[in-house]
Amino acid sequence: TQLLSSRLLSIQPSPSIAANALANELRAQGRDIINFTIGEPDFDTPPHIIQAASAAMQQGDTHYTDTRGSLALRQAIVSKLLRDNGLVYDLDEVIAGSGGKHIIYHALAATLNAGDEVIVHAPYWVSYPDIARLNAATPVIIPGDESSGFKLTAQALEQAITPHSKWVILNTPNNPSGAVYSREELLALAEVLRLHPQVLIMSDEIYEHFVYDNACHLSIVNVAPDLKARTLIVNGASKGYAMTGWRLGFAAGPSVLIKAIGKLISQTTTCPSSISQAAAVAAFAGDQTPIAQMREIYAQRRQRMLENLDGIAGLRCASPQGAFYIFANVAGLLGKQSPQGQYMASDTDLANYLLQEANVATVSGEAYGMSPYLRLSFSSPMDVIDEGCRRISAACRTLR
Ligand code: PLP
Repeated sequence: TQLLSSRLLSIQPSPSIAANALANELRAQGRDIINFTIGEPDFDTPPHIIQAASAAMQQGDTHYTDTRGSLALRQAIVSKLLRDNGLVYDLDEVIAGSGGKHIIYHALAATLNAGDEVIVHAPYWVSYPDIARLNAATPVIIPGDESSGFKLTAQALEQAITPHSKWVILNTPNNPSGAVYSREELLALAEVLRLHPQVLIMSDEIYEHFVYDNACHLSIVNVAPDLKARTLIVNGASKGYAMTGWRLGFAAGPSVLIKAIGKLISQTTTCPSSISQAAAVAAFAGDQTPIAQMREIYAQRRQRMLENLDGIAGLRCASPQGAFYIFANVAGLLGKQSPQGQYMASDTDLANYLLQEANVATVSGEAYGMSPYLRLSFSSPMDVIDEGCRRISAACRTLR
């Protein structure tokens, strides 16, 4: 008999977490690694949020809360959705969880049966397909296309939908491509989805606050309110408020789905940490200026990284409209060889070469279901961005 479940054996450890762990391990061994795999803000959590958590602990908010999250937190989420997104949700249509990933897992686990299909378009956040697999469903991957700005098109969505389709997962702003869907693009998807009322829509909006130039974050529920009844918005405190370690996410959607997620949480994690909940109330309901400050800094770093990478022969970067990653096309570097004789057959070979020879950690596009690309996080200080890009440039120049 095998020790591990077949379901567990059907998935991989998160490749972005693994790439980050490897970079940290090499660093611990004394290697001077520049880490461009970072999938989280490098900022610390704003002080007013820390203070709220500290006060909560002092006041004895150290007990289990309602499975859905405290009333104060659910009220703060409802108010946040109205203020930031112009969306009206009732208290029984929101639920907090221990991170967006936890919410996504619970939503899929609460709804999927064997044979169900979950539509995911590449490049995708690494966890969607594996969470679907863990829950006995089949991820249906729509190939990515750089010429459509890495975005899912109405036509591709229509072709992917079958009678087994249970969910389609949308992610705007997108990790890893930085794509931000416009009103027109969302309207086109909504038109297709209207024809398939059995399909649930998951809208992962965790990067909503980080959009650049003239881009503006919209949820599909903003442009197609008629789809609200079968859309689950997933969001959280991790990215917008630099709170990844607090593990606090939430969902907003029809009460039947919210109840189902709550039922499952009551049998798994019971509720998110009461202290993180108090912090999240301060985050969602308190001073919002740190977000604008962080966005401005990310905008400058994005510009700098694009400038630094521009002109590296073989590497081509579209300007991301959102999130904090550049998804660089490296087709021009494949087929080349390093002075040490390493052959670049794939983006993964290139990522390994950059790590071993240039001490720069990146994540290959393969992890996101789209090659040949590298994801480069610009969630690092300017001098780190400069040095990392200088190393990449030097390493790429030696490829022949
Ligand atoms: N969705 C996307 C697209 C992400 O990139 C991440 C984190 O990397 C998450 C969801 C989950 O974040 P968390 O579980 O910290 O809320």
